[in-house]
Amino acid sequence: MLDDLNHGIDWQALDAAHHFHPFTDHKELHEQGVRLITSAEGVYLHDSNGNKIMDGMAGLWCVAAGYGRQDLVEAATKQMSKLAYYNTFFKTTNEPAVLLAQKISQIAPEGFEHVFFACSGSEAVDSALRTARVYWQTLGKPEKKIIIGREYGYHGSTTLGASAGGMKDMHRQGGDMPNFVQVLPPYWYGKGGQMSPEEFGLYAAKEVEKKILELGAENVAAFIGEPIQGAGGVLIPPETYWPEINRICKQYDILLIADEVICGYGRTGKWFGTDYFGIKPDMMTTAKGLTSGYLPLSAMLMNNRVADVLINETGEYYHGFTYSGHPVSCAVALKNLEILENEKLVEGATAKGALLREKLNEAVGDLPIVGEVRGVGLIGAIELTADKRTRKFFEKNGRVGAICRDHCIRNGLMMRATRDTMLFSPPLTITEAEIELFAAMAKKAFEATYADVRAEVAQ
Ligand code: PMP
Repeated sequence: MLDDLNHGIDWQALDAAHHFHPFTDHKELHEQGVRLITSAEGVYLHDSNGNKIMDGMAGLWCVAAGYGRQDLVEAATKQMSKLAYYNTFFKTTNEPAVLLAQKISQIAPEGFEHVFFACSGSEAVDSALRTARVYWQTLGKPEKKIIIGREYGYHGSTTLGASAGGMKDMHRQGGDMPNFVQVLPPYWYGKGGQMSPEEFGLYAAKEVEKKILELGAENVAAFIGEPIQGAGGVLIPPETYWPEINRICKQYDILLIADEVICGYGRTGKWFGTDYFGIKPDMMTTAKGLTSGYLPLSAMLMNNRVADVLINETGEYYHGFTYSGHPVSCAVALKNLEILENEKLVEGATAKGALLREKLNEAVGDLPIVGEVRGVGLIGAIELTADKRTRKFFEKNGRVGAICRDHCIRNGLMMRATRDTMLFSPPLTITEAEIELFAAMAKKAFEATYADVRAEVAQ
């Protein structure tokens, strides 16, 4: 039906008239016009202007299994015909939800046997934050309420998620609930100064300890952190960071929440970022790669320490969503996890990521505006810099990043810019040939960016 409708519609005008977008400056959008994505297969997007664009971001970090997978379509269709919907409240369940909870607990780190379902990453985070408070309340410590997050952290767009994250613009727009604080992120490239990465990792972790001592451990419910801070710029902590965070949370009896919404389900070359870094969380929030974005679904995992209290002592848990454990989303997730396993996409991400970084380094690493190419598995970033040697940022941070992003898209490569950091996170199905092409397109785009920067200096 949509195909029939496709002709003769001014999509730009219609979109501008009625569609209010997330994370968008609407005035700017209406001036520039919107991009209409019409179809996708594998790692490629197609837009209404006939452009074929390689999706270097897997949508919003989510399309792990690639686009256009008929096996996922069939899993959804089959389940939708059998049981399209029923809720999981009031002592009811459905087959896909049970099987998926079991499957997730099998691939999760040891001791994670209980899974709560929601629809989005934000809802999973909200659920974890509330659950942390329920946990302490049940144990007779209701004053343990404060959540410690990090600057540049991203934990979603609900009011609690925005408050837990470290995005100042989101705080300003109503995401600033009480009892949330942020500390220094383990962003060595941007904040490490003269310290070695290892020294800085310890220093950044100690900032968490300092904050706990300042607030009083008796008032702190949890520390929340993404194993790798994604939206904040793919900030990969030095290896000294997470072991120290483990120690601090244990010593001060603070719950540790790993926000695995991006890292979970293979992005790092392990099932979870927690496995990659040796994090010892009490709760994990996951979404995105769980269904490869084909349907909305998220999962909040609790370890036995938390689950035992919630199950045996809390009484009724006053929390849940109409679509918690949605049977069609869960059926798609089960098939998606089977694909990740059968096609060895999780372990494959390690070698593919190394190859992509090698090719990107060859393609753009020597440009004077490139400060660093970094990554773990198939998540990574390229820092744009005004001075390679001192890691100095450009003035008006974000401007050169936006120029580079536009050059990337013009050259057929979808990359995202956070400040002047270029981010990538392609589908885990990307092939070697596609990796070569990725680097070739990046080369053109980064060279054009350098030419623009030089032209500005010359003026
Ligand atoms: N946590 C992290 C780490 C995320 O990256 C995101 C989304 N980018 C979220 C939470 C929120 O997920 P959603 O947009 O599905 O609500």
